[in-house]
Amino acid sequence: MSSITTAFALHDPALLRQQVYVDGQWTPGDGPALPVIDPATGVPLGEVDTLSPAAVERAIDAAERALPAWRALPARKRGQKLERWRTLIVEHADDLARIMTLEQGKPLAEARGEVLSGAAFAKWYAEEGQRVYGEIIPAPQDDKRLLVFREAVGVCAAITPWNFPHSMIVRKTAPALAAGCTVVLKPAESTPFSALALAELAHRAGIPAGVFNVVLGEPSAIGKVFAAHPAVRKLSFTGSIRIGRLLLAQAAEQVQKVTLELGGNAPFIVFDDADLDAAVDDAIIAKFRNAGQVCVAVNRIFVHEKLFPRFVERFTAAASALKVGNGLDAGTQVGPLINQAALERVRELVEDAKAHGADILTGGKPLAQGGGFFFEPTVITRAPVDARIVGEEIFGPVVSIHSFADDAEALRLANATDYGLASYFYTRDYRRLFHIAEGLQFGMVAVNTPTIAAESSPFGGIKTSGIGREGARHGIEDYLEYKTVWVGDL
Ligand code: ADP
Repeated sequence: MSSITTAFALHDPALLRQQVYVDGQWTPGDGPALPVIDPATGVPLGEVDTLSPAAVERAIDAAERALPAWRALPARKRGQKLERWRTLIVEHADDLARIMTLEQGKPLAEARGEVLSGAAFAKWYAEEGQRVYGEIIPAPQDDKRLLVFREAVGVCAAITPWNFPHSMIVRKTAPALAAGCTVVLKPAESTPFSALALAELAHRAGIPAGVFNVVLGEPSAIGKVFAAHPAVRKLSFTGSIRIGRLLLAQAAEQVQKVTLELGGNAPFIVFDDADLDAAVDDAIIAKFRNAGQVCVAVNRIFVHEKLFPRFVERFTAAASALKVGNGLDAGTQVGPLINQAALERVRELVEDAKAHGADILTGGKPLAQGGGFFFEPTVITRAPVDARIVGEEIFGPVVSIHSFADDAEALRLANATDYGLASYFYTRDYRRLFHIAEGLQFGMVAVNTPTIAAESSPFGGIKTSGIGREGARHGIEDYLEYKTVWVGDL
């Protein structure tokens, strides 16, 4: 077993796992060890084991073997296991948050919030699994009956990102497990410790061997195994559009069901009747949480020309006052980016905006601090629409602000993107509320609030932002099939 730093200092050190979790066992890898880096310091935290493609196939075999018994359990019994998992997650929230901050970088309070919001999905689906109703449809002939069963799709593969290393996992696996599916999860390489800690708690919760497996390894090789193994009937992925497209194409091979949560390019629109102070405060939250590394993060701000100067002044002041630092330090509001490549990419976007004649009102460059991958909170104006900062998902603490003259222009600008995940707007006019909510081409719209996700809310995108929904009753649908049953000779 490879070494691990003492930085974790957990109440329950057994949460820190370095092997993969397959068929109910902690299993040593047969691939190269994977180093995990603290993005706030650049210092290695430790290594985790990885699996060869052949070993990943065996993990899927284990999930296939576990499927019949798990699927046959009454939903209430599966729900009890999920409830137990949730209770353990909540009991260990402090340790889980610390693991997350160390490997991912977000401020400790945000990490704790994520752990609790993830746990809420486990509770929601423990209950929702008991409300998977079939149907009896009036049959067209009187000697027949027509029924519709709902059944688990089977073995599900899940691939999750590093930006929400905990809640993305629970959000995918809880509905899958509640529906009676078994799961093979490949978490992001940057944040495996959070995933392995969740597996440890699933083990303690009594989730049976093979029902929930966590594998690590070379991502493209694992993606191919997931696509090729005949037992895998569904893939759920959250990540970039580039990889989402690739996985969608690969899923065609066996016509697997897919749920894809891809990127966003969220507009934040401030109309002339908006509560300016609330709009500024909420835009700061919706832009800078998790250092902007959020698929629903504000990417472009559009402010009515009447409010534009005042909004820009207040927003820039608030952004430049944000405390950037190590997420473990009290008072830190913005942590590091995940790695050097992410830092370079954000720097390139800002340089490109400058080259297009944009003004940088605050920030604009990396922040040399403690060896970590920090970038200054950055506010940009006068960026033309062909600047990359306007068209691409930023995934960093940078935003551009633009003005508009009327509602039609605001909608046109906001919708001028291939993405369609989250959108935000501020108004106190109820007519405008409906017209704009109806006119925005996004899967989610937040009006006068930066809140856009909860276990009770269908989360997902349209256009290139994805397929399917997670959360709410809709989130379990993707893990279920219909079976139509005709009964004759009555
Ligand atoms: P990001 O650029 O934010 O890391 P990615 O889409 O690259 O987003 O990563 C999201 C998840 O997809 C991670 O778990 C990553 O390991 C995984 N991934 C990356 N490339 C592939 C691939 N070719 N096949 C399957 N999974 C992949």
